[in-house]
Amino acid sequence: PEKTVGLEIRGLEVRYGPVRALRGVHLSVPGGAVAAVLGANGAGKTTLLRAVSGTLRFHRGAITSGTVAFGGSRLDGVPAAAVVRRGVVQVPEGRRVFARMTVAENLRAGALGVPGRLAATARERVLDLFPVLAERAHQRAGLLSGGEQQMLAIGRALMAGPSLLLLDEPTLGLAPLMAARIADTVRQINAQGTSVLLVEQNAAMALALAERAYVLEVGEVALSGPAADLAASDEVRRRYLGVG
Ligand code: ATP
Repeated sequence: PEKTVGLEIRGLEVRYGPVRALRGVHLSVPGGAVAAVLGANGAGKTTLLRAVSGTLRFHRGAITSGTVAFGGSRLDGVPAAAVVRRGVVQVPEGRRVFARMTVAENLRAGALGVPGRLAATARERVLDLFPVLAERAHQRAGLLSGGEQQMLAIGRALMAGPSLLLLDEPTLGLAPLMAARIADTVRQINAQGTSVLLVEQNAAMALALAERAYVLEVGEVALSGPAADLAASDEVRRRYLGVG
């Protein structure tokens, strides 16, 4: 797909009260691309996604400087529900599905406010990507395996028909085979035209999926560039890929 104007983050500073979680971050995801964000625990990866999705204030955080734009217009200051309507949807860390609701109900929740015809198309796409969600449509989400819950969390986000998907640690805690399946799905979702901003602890997987990558260290971008270049860099190999 052609690379059009996507997500543009400029000079972003975020605070949680006195804690400076992001300190002047520049990052972009061209339309149609996959970009990855790597970094240790506490580096600010989740905070970055929250700043884009408009959910910072639910965590007592705020943007204190800089801008976030999507498709050429500003997202910072836009309430979370309106960010979703603009086509930007976050899949939170820890596959937070509604455990007591069924799979079908979880998917419907992701389509709240989406016109019926579009929701039906989105549902077809989701069940096509994740046939197991159709098999388990009437089961409580809390009874699914970890990998299935991650599929449901991604499926629920896709129900809103996003043009940019924000993925927070989608393979965390999953067995290698399941993690590889999730990676394949991310590739498929992107091939269908959805841009992806991927936060991952699994650096090898993230660098294999992404075109561009960013390494965050204590709230700042320490390294960035084509994912292949980062994968080849001694520093990244030593610190994030555990080789060399
Ligand atoms: P992890 O992989 O552990 O989630 P992360 O890279 O996503 O790490 P963030 O969760 O964004 O990092 O946290 C960045 C910094 O902001 C950390 O110092 C963290 O302690 C702090 N922080 C995050 N959420 C809050 C909050 N609600 N209130 C105060 N400080 C917070």
